Amino acid sequence: MPTEADLLIHNSSMLLRVPVDGSDDNALGVIRDGAVAVKDRKVLETGTSTDLLKNHPSAQKVDAGGRMVMPGFVDAHTHLVHGGERAAEMEMRLAGKTYLDILKSGGGIYSTVAATRAASLEELTVSAEKRLAMAAAHGTTTVEIKSGYGLDAGTEMKMLECIASLAESSPLDIVSTYLGAHTLPAGRPRTEVVDELTGPALGGFRRHAEFCDVFCEDGAFSFDESRRILTAAKAAGFRLKIHAGQFNPLGAAGMAAELGAVSADHLEELAPGEAGKMAENGTVAVLLPGVPFFLQGSKYADGRQLIDAGVRLALATDYNPGSCPSYSMPFMIALGVFQCGLSTSEAVRAATTGGAAAIGRQNSLGSLTEGKSADIIILNIEKPEEIPYYFGTNPVHTVYKRGKLITAAARHLNYSHHQRK
Ligand SMILES: [Zn+2]
Repeated sequence: MPTEADLLIHNSSMLLRVPVDGSDDNALGVIRDGAVAVKDRKVLETGTSTDLLKNHPSAQKVDAGGRMVMPGFVDAHTHLVHGGERAAEMEMRLAGKTYLDILKSGGGIYSTVAATRAASLEELTVSAEKRLAMAAAHGTTTVEIKSGYGLDAGTEMKMLECIASLAESSPLDIVSTYLGAHTLPAGRPRTEVVDELTGPALGGFRRHAEFCDVFCEDGAFSFDESRRILTAAKAAGFRLKIHAGQFNPLGAAGMAAELGAVSADHLEELAPGEAGKMAENGTVAVLLPGVPFFLQGSKYADGRQLIDAGVRLALATDYNPGSCPSYSMPFMIALGVFQCGLSTSEAVRAATTGGAAAIGRQNSLGSLTEGKSADIIILNIEKPEEIPYYFGTNPVHTVYKRGKLITAAARHLNYSHHQRK
């Protein structure tokens, strides 16, 4: 007698399984009129609706009503915990100042650092919970969140504690990254800062974060400083990530790949040979096309070149208050298609199984294949091309995390972005 499912979602236009090893002719693992059976919070079986209705007669049935069903999105790069917001800075940019101009004049990230230092742990948590609810409403079921708006040990720890409490309370899976090296704190010599970031305090941060990340860029940490920090983090037991090539081709993605980094993120500017090093070391390229979109940049990461070099791709929002205040993975798929040279299949893979690989979770989530977390979304569309086609809209109808309905909860949260204390 085969195992009976607890939950059966059936009558889809198509079910996208998005298997890790999807073949070229069916990269999304499409099953027409597909169904997915869930048991104990995991995917038990996928197949046609006819077959699965026969196999699981006593499961709770959810009729997808001819909508498309696919894995929840994995947003592998966010800065979702922070104080304040920076809409005024957007207005400054629109009046002619560049992101780096604003950063050098002590604005930009420093205003978020001040607001984050001033916020209590509870204030940070409450505001981040609202953002997570918005992300979930857009179909995101797993989120990586970085520290990095403290730039002092105490505030960095407060941010990591906030991420840990979100991981406890949120229905979503949350992955924690320590980004003490986000930028240099104002008024401290850089050698002293780098010594601190590579010192014994790393062990304490490691207890609260799985990954360590560095922002390698002119105006932030240099190539050599980034290598020192990542090398020390690796020795302290962290898995590695890097912000590389956002504005300048410093070669940092290749360097991080050689250190075994799980992902290198941004990559608008790649130095010669970097893609090859990433492919060789299995380092995932995380494209963040919402950033050049919001900063009105002309240069997007070349996803086509990376795929042709054999690099695995992820698409993520980089949600942050300064350079991409968007929670929408469907919009990132649209940008991936229109600006990064990706096909719809490649963009959908990058937003699901690719995102899972970028946080080292490809064996447990990101696909609707047997044994993986039952993170399932139902969309108000019939085929994947309609995600970029209806760009700027939210196609997500229903979200299940580990087999449990969560969209309804997200919709009922008191969304109060506009309230001020
Ligand atoms: Zn970032």
